[in-house]
Amino acid sequence: MSFTLAIVGRPNVGKSTLFNRLVGRRLALVDDQPGVTRDIREGEARLVDLRFTVIDTAGLEEATDESLQGRMRRLTERAVDMADVCLFMIDARAGVLPADQVFAEILRKRAKHVIVAANKSEGAAGQAGYLEAFSLGLGEPLPLSAEHGEGMPELYSILRPLAEGFEERAAEEAPEVDIDLTEEEAEAGDEAGASRTFTLTKPLQIAVVGRPNAGKSTLINKLLGEDRLLTGPEAGITRDAISVTMDWAGVPVRVFDTAGMRKKAKVQEKLEKLSVADGLRAVKFAEVVVVLLDVSIPFEQQDLRIADLAEREGRAVVIAVNKWDVEDDKSNKARELREEFARLLPQLRGAPLVTVSAKTGKNLDKLQEAILQAHQVWNRRVPTSRLNSWLSAMTEAHPPPAPGGRRIKLRYMTQAKTRPPGFVVMCSHPDELNASYKRYLINGLREDFDMPGTPIRLFVRSQS
Ligand code: GDP
Ligand code: GDP
Repeated sequence: MSFTLAIVGRPNVGKSTLFNRLVGRRLALVDDQPGVTRDIREGEARLVDLRFTVIDTAGLEEATDESLQGRMRRLTERAVDMADVCLFMIDARAGVLPADQVFAEILRKRAKHVIVAANKSEGAAGQAGYLEAFSLGLGEPLPLSAEHGEGMPELYSILRPLAEGFEERAAEEAPEVDIDLTEEEAEAGDEAGASRTFTLTKPLQIAVVGRPNAGKSTLINKLLGEDRLLTGPEAGITRDAISVTMDWAGVPVRVFDTAGMRKKAKVQEKLEKLSVADGLRAVKFAEVVVVLLDVSIPFEQQDLRIADLAEREGRAVVIAVNKWDVEDDKSNKARELREEFARLLPQLRGAPLVTVSAKTGKNLDKLQEAILQAHQVWNRRVPTSRLNSWLSAMTEAHPPPAPGGRRIKLRYMTQAKTRPPGFVVMCSHPDELNASYKRYLINGLREDFDMPGTPIRLFVRSQS
């Protein structure tokens, strides 16, 4: 597995700091001769289990005959062309400067995949700059602190699926299926969007999480259509499969098998704890999280924790209630489950709940459909014009609060990102907009633009 990551951005944002962190002392000193300008350096990076080449456009600060801009542009273009993925770094403390826009332009035109990183994000000083980074239109920014090592797990979880994508493409040269662009997004054309960061031939990432013995392995086996994994009530079975890739009517999907990871554990009493940790890990990688419940003990604390975590991490969530074959009183139970779901997981309002039997295969087609649909909703993009007429109707129907007699004005709204959908609203006194009004807007977005069950983020920003 190998790919090349280029770190690009204007001088002093922290590129070398990140480069050094990724490469450590494994830097390949290519050119040590005096007098030779080594303007692109290259090193072998390690990040958890990933190995890749990282390149850095160093030495931009050095004076040359050429103008800094021209030199910057030429070097960056070269680095971008060499790379599979570009990490575009801005300084969150400085915000987005005109020089950053020059890079954004180059990347928009030439880069295959872009990750926007808002560096120097440790502490609170980078918050405004981080939000500004959305406006670059290159996807959801990643808050980083290269100096303190913050954001490295998140960088890993972005690179990991990309790396697997490269690996698979290299291995099979599969025909490209771009599952990330919905019709709506394609129409939206060049509008800013996080989807760009991830627009690549990669499978839809699914995690099946749930308590031990909920039936995760049985479900994955059944979906695979063959007995690829061992199942059984006994703990301690060693399995190697961590993820399996399959094809659902032309849509490539990858399922993380947390049970497989869990069952590697030998010590019985550690199981509960471990399965939570594995669940957390899987949630980080996933786009859609299937919370698999056992109908005889649904909505256990552990299930609630992981479902809540998936929501907080911004994943699309599908609730699947397994072992439906053993339930005698199906209609009463179904009602009871829906009530419990609404009461215990209000933050996931509208998320699909499907009853299945992993063992018999009953309703697995419905589950697949729910997963694909949840993924689409998660990717949904609402045009700015529609948002703004919606916003004026919403504020008319229910005006924002007026603390101290001064009414807060909501001026403008735009969708800053997808996966999950995130909206920015420009507002006269953002600090004073209370949680209940934000909830009103979020619930309204969910209802009016048909986004059930997906986390919706609302960023409030000041505009004077
Ligand atoms: P480059 O020119 O983009 O390669 O930037 P450098 O890596 O040389 O960093 C420029 C300055 O920013 C140095 O003084 C670094 O110590 C500092 N720096 C880098 N990363 C961070 C960070 O995460 N937080 C803070 N506060 N400073 C950083
Ligand atoms: P995991 O620990 O979540 O991976 O659970 P397994 O897939 O190993 O399943 C645990 C036990 O539940 C096994 O004995 C399975 O045969 C059983 N099981 C799984 N799915 C179903 C189902 O839909 N119906 C019934 N009756 N039993 C199931």
